Amino acid sequence: MTVFRSIAQQVEPQYVREGAGVLLRRSIALPILDHVDPFLLFDDFRAANPADVLPGFPMHPHRGIETVTYMLAGNVAHRDSIGNAGIVGAGAVQWMTSGRGILHEEMPQPVAGRLDGFQLWVNLPAALKMSPARYQELRADEIPEVALPGGARARIIAGEVAGVRGPVTEIAVQPTYLDITLPPGSVVTLPTPTTHNVLVYLFEGDINLGGQVLNATQMLVLGAGDAVEIHAGAQVARLLFISGQPLHEPIARYGPFVMNTREEIQQTLRELRAGTFPPV
Ligand code: FE
Repeated sequence: MTVFRSIAQQVEPQYVREGAGVLLRRSIALPILDHVDPFLLFDDFRAANPADVLPGFPMHPHRGIETVTYMLAGNVAHRDSIGNAGIVGAGAVQWMTSGRGILHEEMPQPVAGRLDGFQLWVNLPAALKMSPARYQELRADEIPEVALPGGARARIIAGEVAGVRGPVTEIAVQPTYLDITLPPGSVVTLPTPTTHNVLVYLFEGDINLGGQVLNATQMLVLGAGDAVEIHAGAQVARLLFISGQPLHEPIARYGPFVMNTREEIQQTLRELRAGTFPPV
């Protein structure tokens, strides 16, 4: 028998300043929600005013995590310490596995006055925290969009829906990452691995999930079960549907570094001070 997941926690995104002063809305990595294993942070940088995001994220390090940048509008120009550079444009995704380390900058470039996107941090298991850095970058036209029974559409970044696999693969936590559009009156039912933790980030319109009516914008952490059923309201709803296998490992986090122990954080800071970060 199918057990539908219900809402375990609702989080109202909170305004924070990050990078060189970017104003964004954070819903994971907050005092009220530190993480949802294996997800460590979620930021929404859809900007009503592009001036709020222009300062960008100048050169900064990462170790032990993956950062996932998904754009709806505008560009983020990216450059790192190991020679990678590029633009993440509207509809594109960059799934960056920092492993043992990179230094990179992420600089917003509004297009037609818009700069809209999201960044998710995904934890790496202890065994992969010191692996080499790796990128998966997909243009908008490389991300399949499928029409689902019930009237919804899904762009599949990672995971499999209706027999279609997303292009981001070989990620340790076996994630699903979908951008779902629900026209008025539509309904979507998605099976989820029972062991996964599941997030729904509702960023436009309203939905009914498990009998509760919810309005954008909020992060929903779902409870246990093996499927999710979401009904659209009277207007178009849009949401990100994200799931992953929890790691159940200790978390030691300090800014852009997420390791398993305090000593590993101290070691990372020593490397930074000594100028031996990132290791070659
Ligand atoms: Fe970064």
